[in-house]
Amino acid sequence: MPDKTFLGWPFFDERHRVLAAGIESWCASNLPCADADVYAACRDLVRKLGRDGWLKHTAPDPGGAAPLDVRALCLIRETLARHDGLADFAFAMQGLGAGPISLLGNADQRHWLARTRSGEAIAAFALTEQKSGSDVANIVTNATRDGNGYVLDGEKTWISNGGVADLYVVFARTGEAPGAKGISAFIVPGDVAGLSVAERLDVISPHPLARITFDHVRVGATSMIGAPGDGFKIAMATLDVFRATVAAAALGFARRALDEALKRVRDRRMFDGTLADLQLVQGAIAEMALDVDAAALLVYRAAWAKDSGAARVTREASMAKLFATERAQRVVDKAVQLHGGDGVRRGHIVERLYRDIRALRIYEGASEVQKVIIARQMLAGA
Ligand SMILES: Cc1cc2nc3c(=O)[nH]c(=O)nc-3n(C[C@H](O)[C@H](O)[C@H](O)COP(=O)(O)OP(=O)(O)OC[C@H]3O[C@@H](n4cnc5c(N)ncnc54)[C@H](O)[C@@H]3O)c2cc1C
Repeated sequence: MPDKTFLGWPFFDERHRVLAAGIESWCASNLPCADADVYAACRDLVRKLGRDGWLKHTAPDPGGAAPLDVRALCLIRETLARHDGLADFAFAMQGLGAGPISLLGNADQRHWLARTRSGEAIAAFALTEQKSGSDVANIVTNATRDGNGYVLDGEKTWISNGGVADLYVVFARTGEAPGAKGISAFIVPGDVAGLSVAERLDVISPHPLARITFDHVRVGATSMIGAPGDGFKIAMATLDVFRATVAAAALGFARRALDEALKRVRDRRMFDGTLADLQLVQGAIAEMALDVDAAALLVYRAAWAKDSGAARVTREASMAKLFATERAQRVVDKAVQLHGGDGVRRGHIVERLYRDIRALRIYEGASEVQKVIIARQMLAGA
């Protein structure tokens, strides 16, 4: 049984405990999913998560006033990740993809949220380019003013849900100033003329992922989120919120690895006892438990701070992401070690976790980038 004592921490309200029990029982009935075809599996997961109301947590109600509940997002991601990385991915992208609209979209643009919250529309967040991943202020995809709209030309890569999304938020250079201040954010429907998949990308933990091309893609001026030149700020504000949820997914992977390790060491007989009797093994278990609890504290501190009205949680979210993803990798690696040969057998749960966790240390800002962000915040006295 996964440790649930953290739900008693003061970060949570009663509704969060009810939510945690609900998503746990949904996972028990619906996961793991069949993932031979990750594209079909993701479509199916989005449909089911929408049907059963879970996607409502990925964006605010367009007709209501309530903001995003980041603790709810984190609890759901943690639980989904503990059961099935692909389910977490399907849920998370609805939030990240629609995130700029949730946070800064106008009333007209927010109609998209009704569709992403129901699972009717799949969302994607298109920022990264081949030559600008970490150095994102240098993107070159261009948006040229043309009559009462813009024309987008360029290429984005590593786009999760690329090729399956109904809605892309695309960051492109509009040229108000060099670098970060000359980027704007656009809502681009997935079926628009000129948008195509140049390549599907296969990774160690597969999910829908592609390099996509914009060849004279025409969008109306009303598809711009915020003002011209606001794109970089919008991307960063979105990542501020969703980075804490990446940390929550890492926490879910780590908790699952710890649970699997506990089962294994209790059951595995050797040297006239069990693996759990060995003090070096107990040391590993203690370190894993410590990493999990410390990560959880950082994750839910960041989420609670945002929910409590903080305008930005840059430092808290970066700390949570850096610590939770790095430590989850370590926890999963220990779980693999404690499973011996079984741990590296293809298809074993800890082997899957070993692959699932790796990309989280790279995307939404690599670990080194998080360190730079944290240091800048500290040096600025934030
Ligand atoms: C599975 C997956 C899904 C993704 N999904 C999306 C998506 O949906 N949308 C999207 O826009 N992008 C997405 N990305 C892209 C992701 O955000 C980038 O891969 C990431 O920002 C790193 O950029 P890069 O790959 O170009 O690596 P680079 O920028 O070339 O960086 C390589 C390495 O350099 C090091 N490094 C970088 N900066 C510094 C620094 N300041 N100091 C020291 N070392 C540094 C880090 O170790 C980093 O990993 C995804 C990536 C992956 C792997």
